[in-house]
Amino acid sequence: MSKRPQIRCEDCYFHCANLCALKLETPCPTFRQHADGVLRPPSQAQLIMRPVDRLDTPRLVAQHQAA
Ligand code: SF4
Repeated sequence: MSKRPQIRCEDCYFHCANLCALKLETPCPTFRQHADGVLRPPSQAQLIMRPVDRLDTPRLVAQHQAA
């Protein structure tokens, strides 16, 4: 089950600004949230730290110095 909120074309900036010429049953991938009359920037994907293998650190340092 998806936790993403349901989106509708009526909530899309392009629909509200009368900039969309599409007549689709469902929102397209261009959907951008309309908020307070402006185009809300897309949310940034959550950054996830990669585990660092401490034994591999000397190799990473050598690669960095070689670059
Ligand atoms: S751009 Fe896509 S999501 Fe936005 S109103 Fe048009 S069809 Fe719907």
